[in-house]
Amino acid sequence: MFNDLKDKRVLITGSTAGIGLAAAKAFAAAGAKVGINGNSSGEKADKALKEVTAAGSEAAFFQANLTKTAECERLVNEFVSRFGGIDVLINNAGGLGGRAGLEKIDDEFYDRVMDLNARSALMVTRFALPHLRNSAAASGQTAAVISTGSIAGREGGGMGAGIYAASKAWLHNLQRNWVKEFSSANIRFNIVSPGTIDTAFHDDKSDELKEKIAASIPMGRFGREEELAPSYLFLASHAASGYITGQILDVNGGQMAP
Ligand code: NAD
Repeated sequence: MFNDLKDKRVLITGSTAGIGLAAAKAFAAAGAKVGINGNSSGEKADKALKEVTAAGSEAAFFQANLTKTAECERLVNEFVSRFGGIDVLINNAGGLGGRAGLEKIDDEFYDRVMDLNARSALMVTRFALPHLRNSAAASGQTAAVISTGSIAGREGGGMGAGIYAASKAWLHNLQRNWVKEFSSANIRFNIVSPGTIDTAFHDDKSDELKEKIAASIPMGRFGREEELAPSYLFLASHAASGYITGQILDVNGGQMAP
């Protein structure tokens, strides 16, 4: 369906597990060249790379801890050295970073959550921009930046997850500014906003709590990581979504109707 993704150079941050890994496999199956990333190398990264390569295409793993600006720059440089440019960037690295109510929030907690979810996407996008511009200019098609937002960014987040939710709302809003600045360079910015997806993200919850949450979702269950992947493909494909930018695509089983 997304034939124009063949040979596109796609960098996906936070993709050794969960939603990012499922997206990486889907891009590989569509014939894209895929860079996966995680904050540490080792068995998990090796296994992820094997799975992405088995899905059908050229792929490489890049270790980088994206809470640090210098690592964001290094990731982009290493990806470009390997693949020669960037056509699609997916800012997916992120996570809860722990829970703390307002009265417990200190500088260390604030920085940890914001660096993981906000700084990472901001800085990787910043360093990727010249390459995305080049891609659009050379191909005559739009280049794409897709960030993983969250239902929390719309409804405020669970207990102790206020900074996480705010960091996702920050992303939801920041791209509106990027649309104004970079649409003339033929770069599109969109967000995939998951609801409750069955990944390691929910490891801090008991089975009982998970069942309660599932019952509150109109579709009656958590989403699966592979159910997110086609939305990234759609928003990356110029043929499918070349006139779509600045949007937030909710994938949440009806959990919160936009
Ligand atoms: P996950 O924990 O399975 O995957 C997280 C990925 O990010 C892993 O590959 C991990 O290695 C990587 N990562 C973590 N810290 C990193 C760092 N400092 N630098 C680089 N990479 C790092 O979780 P997931 O559920 O697949 O989450 C992916 C994205 O989806 C996150 O941005 C998360 O906030 C968002 N999200 C998830 C849900 C959900 O219900 N699972 C809901 C809304 C949004």
